[in-house]
Amino acid sequence: MTTTAVSPVLLLTAVVRRVERLSPSFVRISLGGNGFEHLGPAGPTLDQRVKLLIPSPGRPAPSALLDPDGWYAVWLALPEAERGHLRTYTARAVEGEGADRRLVVDFVLHGHGPHEAAGAAVGPAGTWAAGAAVGDEIGLLAPRRGHEHDFGGIEFDPGAARRLVLVADETALPALASIVESLPAGTRGVAVVEVPDDTDFLDVRFPAGIEPHWIARGARPRGEQTLAVLRACLDLCPHERGLADAPALGPAVDLDDDVWETPTRSSSGADVTTVSNEPGWADVRETYAWVAGDSDTVKACRRLLVGEGGMPRPQVAFMGYWKQGRAS
Ligand SMILES: Cc1cc2nc3c(=O)[nH]c(=O)nc-3n(C[C@H](O)[C@H](O)[C@H](O)COP(=O)(O)OP(=O)(O)OC[C@H]3O[C@@H](n4cnc5c(N)ncnc54)[C@H](O)[C@@H]3O)c2cc1C
Repeated sequence: MTTTAVSPVLLLTAVVRRVERLSPSFVRISLGGNGFEHLGPAGPTLDQRVKLLIPSPGRPAPSALLDPDGWYAVWLALPEAERGHLRTYTARAVEGEGADRRLVVDFVLHGHGPHEAAGAAVGPAGTWAAGAAVGDEIGLLAPRRGHEHDFGGIEFDPGAARRLVLVADETALPALASIVESLPAGTRGVAVVEVPDDTDFLDVRFPAGIEPHWIARGARPRGEQTLAVLRACLDLCPHERGLADAPALGPAVDLDDDVWETPTRSSSGADVTTVSNEPGWADVRETYAWVAGDSDTVKACRRLLVGEGGMPRPQVAFMGYWKQGRAS
């Protein structure tokens, strides 16, 4: 008897069920529809990434044309107007059961903020979110419940670390919020979050041991205050200060433009999977850093934590979520 393997990829036409303006820079959109009863992950969403297929104006969501296996090649072969745009977002939450199961996504409305210059860059996903209304449809690629491990897309993996350093800009705030809201009691650490304006300080349930540092960017350069706060956090923490004396692990390669390095994969191609067994490593493994946001800031944070701070690369995840001046 042959059995047909179930694809870990759920490819759905997602219907807008609810639109909620959270702040000047954020809109929360709940998506549901046929097949959502199979939506994963089954456990905490953490920084679970999903792919959205944003239709070109006036066109239907391309998801109906695609098969979950080999969808990318098929999608790419479609005429440009028909295929629309593929973008990566975070599952801020997965709620409900059965026919009422929904994916919640918090979209940044970039290009519209009070501190942005006229003519600031906008893109199809941000534009779609700004105008989304109940009943609108987009394509969604997400994990099938029970198959989330094969789908992948969760990078947050602190292992046995008991102290966290979490850093996010507005695009990574949905992931950071989802992470901190599912941390076990007793986890300690800091969360540095830079958003466009103080009206964008969203309602996030930080656990008692995580100290939040909200930063309103205002007219100041992106990432500038994040780095200052992060540096102050390291200076204040004797544990991290001691990391500078830890043995260096691997060559100090700089990250490429894609800026993606986790304990298991580096976009630079470097092998980051070997963890030194030398004495003294137990202490540095106590701390885990998760840093996501615009690529330039993420790179600068990496220099600070790994370069100056001496954090071992297997204890950090650095993820460039977007790059200034470049469409995703
Ligand atoms: C794993 C992952 C998870 C993500 N999760 C989220 C999420 O939950 N919410 C969210 O809002 N974003 C999230 N992002 C970021 C999002 O994918 C990008 O911001 C994406 O570029 C938006 O697509 P777009 O079509 O609006 O703009 P694009 O067409 O990609 O870009 C057009 C122009 O806008 C600029 N731009 C893009 N994003 C921004 C921004 N935020 N601020 C200022 N300028 C910008 C680009 O540099 C470019 O010049 C995530 C990215 C990754 C990789």
